[in-house]
Amino acid sequence: MGIRPKLIILVLALTLPLLGAGGLVAVTVIEDQLLDEMRHRGLSLLSALSVPCSIALANHEIERLDDYLAQFRPPASNLGVPPGLDVQSARDPIRDLQSLCIVDGSGRVIAHTRETAYGTKCEDAFTRRALAADRVLFEERFPPGESPVLAIALPVKSGLRWGTLLAEFSLARLEVRSDRLRWHLTKLTGVLMVLTALALILGLSRLVIRPVRALSAMAEHLSRRELDHRVADKGRDELGTLARVFNSTAAELADYTRDLETKVRERSQEIISKNEELERANQQLSDMNVRLEELATTDGLTGLANKAHLLSRLDFEVMRAQRGGHKLSLVMLDVDKFKHYNDTHGHLAGDRVLAQLAGVLRSNLRSIDIAGRFGGEEFCIALLDTSLKAASKAAEKLRRAVEREDFEGQDQQPGGNMTISLGVAELGPAERVNELIERADNALYAAKGAGRNRVELIE
Ligand code: GH3
Ligand code: MG
Ligand code: MG
Repeated sequence: MGIRPKLIILVLALTLPLLGAGGLVAVTVIEDQLLDEMRHRGLSLLSALSVPCSIALANHEIERLDDYLAQFRPPASNLGVPPGLDVQSARDPIRDLQSLCIVDGSGRVIAHTRETAYGTKCEDAFTRRALAADRVLFEERFPPGESPVLAIALPVKSGLRWGTLLAEFSLARLEVRSDRLRWHLTKLTGVLMVLTALALILGLSRLVIRPVRALSAMAEHLSRRELDHRVADKGRDELGTLARVFNSTAAELADYTRDLETKVRERSQEIISKNEELERANQQLSDMNVRLEELATTDGLTGLANKAHLLSRLDFEVMRAQRGGHKLSLVMLDVDKFKHYNDTHGHLAGDRVLAQLAGVLRSNLRSIDIAGRFGGEEFCIALLDTSLKAASKAAEKLRRAVEREDFEGQDQQPGGNMTISLGVAELGPAERVNELIERADNALYAAKGAGRNRVELIE
């Protein structure tokens, strides 16, 4: 349940009993006042009567008593009058008078406004108390099914006590007035209650409900991280303080969040640029690793595999060929009379010849073949899946290609051309790499021995 219905219930719970009780008290006070008025009026009447009555009694003038009382004989309208019917004026002393009588010390009626009552004896409790009392007595009676009655008794004294005056006044008119009064007060209380409740609700709504709802809305905005929302903080009370605290907290949070977002953006940017740097460094590192691997496995002058790499690959291919039952042949080749070339043209020119020769070898070999610089001007080529016969053909192809190749200053070589000698051997079953190399080397020596620029094979 929201704060508004709660406060409405509270206001109604407070105003209803308060105004109800107030109305009840007012009715009671007014009723008491009306009754007092009636008592006073009755007492005035009896007091006025008591003097002539005492004289008449002292002089035994009973007829005069009757005359006196006859003056106060109530009109028929007083007896059984429809309540509220104003047949008499308010100043009429016998207004509401129902009966008036004077009794002697034993309660016997000496004179009565109702003539038939003469000589009867009043033995009710009130009369007995009145006979015994030395002062005025009042009693309210509520006979069932009839209008209430106010009974008044006054001793008739003049030196001696001559009798007692008894009067009965109808309270019907009083009851009707009380009922009307109660009804008017009930209406008034209702109207007052509605007005009070409305005023309280409006006041509370303005002073409490609206600020509290605004604070509640503010709290919801804060919980949703909507930090730009603010609440009006006009009041100087606790709610105003709360609103100011909410506003300053929201402002601080907004500043803090903005700072945080800026820092996060800056840090993210830094991380991105660091990552880019790292990526660049990683790329450089991997390029360098590739280069390093190239350097570690490649001969710098010719670009072919270096000796260590060549031997390692040869180990692997020999093992694979033997395990798979494939053929493998090895060609060893050496530049003829290269010392002479160096001596004639210098080492740098010799280097260029070696690089050019490597190019010739590469372009005359298959991509699966492995060519490497074995040392100096000696090269070694592993021909995979190749028999001795096919290898000798490949070697011959190389020899011819070199022979045809135009090398700088080759015409000053013995024979007027740059040539190579080649030795070929096929991998034997269970043969080790060293043995194969040695056999191919032997074939190369054989080619050198046989006059150079030729291919020799070893079965
Ligand atoms: P053969 O026909 O008997 O092989 O005669 P050769 O002169 O080629 O043989 P020798 O072993 O006497 O000489 C090899 C020469 O190769 C010696 C050396 O100066 C040269 N050489 C070895 N490595 C390099 C190199 O990297 N660059 C150059 N320019 N020359 C090299
Ligand atoms: Mg040599
Ligand atoms: Mg040589």
